[in-house]
Amino acid sequence: MKRIWLLAGFVSALVMGFVITRGDAQPNTVKQIAPGVWFREGDLEAGHCNNVIVEMKDYLIVVDANFPSGARLALADAKKVSSKPVKFVFDTHHHGDHTYGNAVWTGVGATTIAFQGVAEEMKRYEPARWKMAMKERKDVADMHSDTVEPPKQTFTDSPHVIMDATRRVEFYHFGWAHTRGDGMLYLPQEHVLCTGDAAVNGPYNFTADGNIGNWPKVLDGALKLNVDHVLPGHGGAGGKEILTGQRTFMIELRKAVQAEVKNGKKLDDLVKKNNGKETASLQLPASVKNWVGPDFASQVKDSYNEVTTGKAAGDLPH
Ligand SMILES: [Zn+2]
Repeated sequence: MKRIWLLAGFVSALVMGFVITRGDAQPNTVKQIAPGVWFREGDLEAGHCNNVIVEMKDYLIVVDANFPSGARLALADAKKVSSKPVKFVFDTHHHGDHTYGNAVWTGVGATTIAFQGVAEEMKRYEPARWKMAMKERKDVADMHSDTVEPPKQTFTDSPHVIMDATRRVEFYHFGWAHTRGDGMLYLPQEHVLCTGDAAVNGPYNFTADGNIGNWPKVLDGALKLNVDHVLPGHGGAGGKEILTGQRTFMIELRKAVQAEVKNGKKLDDLVKKNNGKETASLQLPASVKNWVGPDFASQVKDSYNEVTTGKAAGDLPH
């Protein structure tokens, strides 16, 4: 969604999880990644996340519920690629653009599933964020609900495995990066990893519920898997470079902030406010420029707060 959402208030960022679009985006396209595995790129302008459709012997698994309007688009595309019903929808994390469409999927007979941490994050942040989203998004208001529908099934074992005669699907929780409940879906035969927002392809990192200091460790866990295709929560599909680049971005962000703090710099020195717009003066290496965008000042602020308090950004008041 557009920057204006952020300017309208921090609340929108909390609901959306990201803010801008990129020139090379291919919104609303469906691309086959491997036999029976499709990547649907969400429309950032509409606030949608990406979806992945995985075909099993008798049914489909979809990654992320999306916002209600995105859920309907993904469901329509799932019907185009396969006549099998959607049995499971995996919420990678609790943010609205990944879960607020849960009731759309359960309404057509699917079961929403997630790591236990996703349900716990919902208890922490909802229904406040849902109520804010109802004011800002017609598709959420039109659900006529007081809050988000939590995942119907949760699990804590990692990997959690679903398999049949045709495919093995593994669900991993490597720890707290983007949110405490971050989950990834991995297809070991096809070497496909769906990362949610723990790894995004572009400047879409929302860090306020996150743990920037721990983020690289989560990606280290993902990098131990045999991965050829990385299907991120936002931005285009790619390979392992999304994981390594995302990891380096978080390391360089924290390193740059730490160096400034060591030099006695305060938050006001690092993040300047002009006409209500915040900008950060820090320079990160060119190798991570894919992840640097309009949200950079917020990321610097979250990183500064982590470095100076020793707490994760998500554990600080917001
Ligand atoms: Zn998110």
